[in-house]
Amino acid sequence: MANTAKNIFLFSVDLEDVRLRMEGGMKYKPRMEKMVEQYLLFLDKYQSKATFFTVGDIPDHYPSLIKTILSAGHEIACHSNKHIPVAEQTKEDFKKDLLQNLENLNKAGASNIIGYRAPIYSITEKTPWAFDVLSELGFTYSSSVLPSKNPLFGWEGFGEKPRMMNDKLLEIPVSVRGSRFLNVPFSGGVYFRVLPLSMIKKGFDKHFSNGLAVTSYFHPYDSDVEQEKFIHPEINNNWFYNKLMYYNRKNTFNRLETIMETFDCKIITYKEYADSFNGK
Ligand SMILES: [Zn+2]
Repeated sequence: MANTAKNIFLFSVDLEDVRLRMEGGMKYKPRMEKMVEQYLLFLDKYQSKATFFTVGDIPDHYPSLIKTILSAGHEIACHSNKHIPVAEQTKEDFKKDLLQNLENLNKAGASNIIGYRAPIYSITEKTPWAFDVLSELGFTYSSSVLPSKNPLFGWEGFGEKPRMMNDKLLEIPVSVRGSRFLNVPFSGGVYFRVLPLSMIKKGFDKHFSNGLAVTSYFHPYDSDVEQEKFIHPEINNNWFYNKLMYYNRKNTFNRLETIMETFDCKIITYKEYADSFNGK
């Protein structure tokens, strides 16, 4: 297996509270601060700085959270204001939502935000205008494309390498692996918990062997073994998907530590990665 200090792992958290997107969601216990604390401890253990793609309603509900993350040296980036997939918005609505996301995060203490991740990796070949809006608002990178077929959103044929989408903006697609028929993002969310560890390791190995960074997306709930049971939003009331939302959370950190140690990974922020990429 590839084993050099240059195995770049772009660890990231999509900082969102799913309860805020559910009718009656606030009756469930808040778990956000506890789970962020665990991610910060994990990052601290490996002396690493990572990126938190943050939804605009987070500062309203957790007033000190942004500052806690920033003071530990991590990056805050945007993840939309209302978590509406890009394809379900007009260009104007997308811009308005993003400006509000920026304003809310700026007010909470995050300045010079340059990164964006679309909700549910929802930038596809049908919404290329999103990149121009991002550039116009000063973003210099995005990590919003799932470069394969997917039941939700996907941009088949995008390719697995980051690339400039106009003269200012770098798109860093999420890492996928699989077969000719199905490629899935193995390094985050439900897939990281559900796929066999051997398959996840192969994904990391293949990317590192090809000189590619592995990009990822974790959520506060991905490691939460105490979250109450409810139907998560955006899964169309599918009981099977909902079961997967809770599956194997207890092993998320074990798996992350195994990956870190197997590959001697280096976690850096997306900002740092994008800056170095732009210089090449
Ligand atoms: Zn999200």
